[in-house]
Amino acid sequence: AVNIRLQHISKTFIHKVKGEVAAVNDVNLEIKPGELLTLLGPSGCGKTTTLRMVAGFETPDAGRVYIGNEDVTDFMANRRNIGFVFQNYALFPHLSIFENVAYGLKVKEMTKAEIVPTVSDVLKMVGLKGYEHQFPNQLSGGEQQRVALARAIVIKPKVLLFDEPLSNLDAKLRVYTRSEIRRLQKALHITAVYVTHDQEEAMAISDRIVVMNQGRIEQIGAAEELYFAPETEFVAKFIGKINTLPARVNTVENDVMSLNIFDHTYQLQDASAQVHPDTNLNVFVRPEFIKLHQPDQGHFRGVIRERTFLGEKVEYVVDIQGQQINVTSYDPLEHETFALDQGVGIQLDPRNIKILQPGEVEK
Ligand code: ADP
Ligand code: MG
Repeated sequence: AVNIRLQHISKTFIHKVKGEVAAVNDVNLEIKPGELLTLLGPSGCGKTTTLRMVAGFETPDAGRVYIGNEDVTDFMANRRNIGFVFQNYALFPHLSIFENVAYGLKVKEMTKAEIVPTVSDVLKMVGLKGYEHQFPNQLSGGEQQRVALARAIVIKPKVLLFDEPLSNLDAKLRVYTRSEIRRLQKALHITAVYVTHDQEEAMAISDRIVVMNQGRIEQIGAAEELYFAPETEFVAKFIGKINTLPARVNTVENDVMSLNIFDHTYQLQDASAQVHPDTNLNVFVRPEFIKLHQPDQGHFRGVIRERTFLGEKVEYVVDIQGQQINVTSYDPLEHETFALDQGVGIQLDPRNIKILQPGEVEK
């Protein structure tokens, strides 16, 4: 398998309404051989444009694209040996499934004797053995997307690119098809770039995730890294849920920060040096890292305003001094302990209080 490198790539569009749009703004990225890397971010953040520059459908204004250490920036798409799967399948409606999958092989001038068994093998791989003579409109959305996948892999591409391939499928089929894509990508050991705006899909399918925001990379990491060690407010809010709590910094000494959250003083280790004493800031805590106790315990008081039982977990909204805070409990015994409008004690674990670069996110 090959690696892919994007070196300082940028692309600006002139948009009719928005004017000049920096769709991709100085993106640097290396995708390892055999890796599945996902570009994740809200609509309009530049995911598709980045992918299209890897494919060769779009030329960067600046920067270089390397595939397997070869500079392909000036190569046409058809010289890059890439398989591409789109959201809308893009099958030829008037061609049979066999003809759809065989298309790329005919372009390569393979003989019929080679094409027939190759198409048959690939259809078997995607679970569509025997579908050769059907037409796209006779297949379900999930089956059509598997034909699109077959068509992408039949040419033995060096790289597979996916642009929101599951968006047209219902929830159950999305989960099934994404694990099929992942299984095949791993089995064939093809380097892949996958685009989605769905954080759960990204977490499920990827080796690493690139979180993008307004044409730039916010953070790159495995799902666990982005979840437990987000570097920015944007990443913390895009991957999972997080509470914003007002805090007051008392002292910062030798990387230990003393700060007050509501009425309690916490000592944070390895605190960022850019924070100054006697200032206000926001800190961030995920709902499952906030513990509820009886009212006479914990660090400060609150009142339960909402309680949603979801089986393996219970989600609470707790009012703390006028702030609405989300708390998630996975403790089955707590299910019976806390009721609506009940006073509770609240405890935070200082290791899970984050100080992050500010930034807004619209989900
Ligand atoms: P995403 O795939 O993350 O939703 P895109 O890469 O499609 O984002 O778009 C990034 C930005 O570039 C958006 O603001 C979009 O409107 C703009 N854009 C994309 N393609 C074009 C184009 N062909 N002409 C004008 N603007 C474009
Ligand atoms: Mg897109």
